[in-house]
Amino acid sequence: MPPEGPAWLDQGWLHVWLPYAQMKHAAVPLPVVATEGVRIRLADGRELIDGIASWWTACHGYNHPHIRQAVERQLAALPHVMFGGLAHEQPYRLAARLAALLPGDLDRVFFTESGSVAVEVAIKMAVQYGLNRGLRGRSKVLAFRGGYHGDTIATMAVCDPEEGMHSHFGGLLPENVIADLPRDAAGLAALDALLQRRGPEIAAILVEPLVQGAGGMLFHEPEVLRRLRDLAERHDVLLIFDEIFTGFGRTGSMFACQQAGVVPDILTLSKGLTGGTLPLAATVASASVFEGFWSDDPGHALMHGPTYMGTALGCAAANATLDLFETEPRLQQVAAIEAQLKRELEPCRTLPGVRDVRVLGAIGVVELEAIRDLAALKRRFVAAGVWVRPFRNIVYLTPAFTIALDELSVLTGAIATVLGEG
Ligand SMILES: *Cc1c(COP(=O)(O)O)cnc(C)c1O
Repeated sequence: MPPEGPAWLDQGWLHVWLPYAQMKHAAVPLPVVATEGVRIRLADGRELIDGIASWWTACHGYNHPHIRQAVERQLAALPHVMFGGLAHEQPYRLAARLAALLPGDLDRVFFTESGSVAVEVAIKMAVQYGLNRGLRGRSKVLAFRGGYHGDTIATMAVCDPEEGMHSHFGGLLPENVIADLPRDAAGLAALDALLQRRGPEIAAILVEPLVQGAGGMLFHEPEVLRRLRDLAERHDVLLIFDEIFTGFGRTGSMFACQQAGVVPDILTLSKGLTGGTLPLAATVASASVFEGFWSDDPGHALMHGPTYMGTALGCAAANATLDLFETEPRLQQVAAIEAQLKRELEPCRTLPGVRDVRVLGAIGVVELEAIRDLAALKRRFVAAGVWVRPFRNIVYLTPAFTIALDELSVLTGAIATVLGEG
């Protein structure tokens, strides 16, 4: 169906391939001409209040002047130089700041440009860490049902087997070990037994701490992470936390692992890292993982290095983002959002078809029995003036931390109204 919109949309529509879309039936995307704060302005002049922060990235709202100025200054001085043999200030400052901010001895930062690649690097690190210690055969990852870690080949293979469509790509994907999260004593015993059996094949346990995001905004208790820490130690495997979604305040603390008092061996970051402005990701290793690569043997080096590694623009945006976490009360804002989401989403529990309402930090979820017509539901939210993107059987909010009380009420109100209409 040909779209009706600006000329660039009409012309480009024949040539772009959209994410996660059956193009034959895909709705034409809404043309956007500007953003500001939590507002998205459409080509026809309408404004939507954004409940998603562009896939959970724009934690300071759109067009924050502090990030814009930092990127503009960097663009004028030094947009990019290669990371091999040349050093420049932004990534070096950012690495030191991330190391200071992260708990424990997570203090060696490897930069990439996307979350999936950051997870790939984490997997590579874990496998090679074993090899460097002379352990052969530890090439698999233990990951969890409901998990999401990216779309590249290696990361698909550690996503939930059904959501990750492992069966489609059978021969291509590396085989890993996928288990249930140890939510109780029985789950812990089962996972312990699994590790007893397959531990010698496993390099690392990989989990999204506290919230499995793209897999359905599924929450678990901090205790689960403490169990995983114990199991990892007992079975001599590394523990990787994928904080690409949960990092930078989303769950109420700067990093989700802090709520469990658990320090993983490797941690991945992306989404909120540049406040939704430029692509950047980081894989952060503990001092002892890094030590596993410290050697006179050149074969023990980590063999990875993306072209745009440590991009100055992205790192400038990330440094500006960290400034904002220092100078503006982000975590208090998240706490206020959490309280408001609890208050205002709770009444949805009694609506027909609602199975669960849950809130953690700046994540609010209304889980339904099923969503029959996802496309129609999305259209109704737009008609209500909000950008809310239900998927599978959930309607959720992950707003910018800077959202005002009345703007958040518009979002929660739209959810209650639209779901209430059945
Ligand atoms: C989004 C996400 C990824 C993948 O990041 P991309 O930048 O899309 O490659 C990995 N892990 C988690 C937990 C994510 O939320």
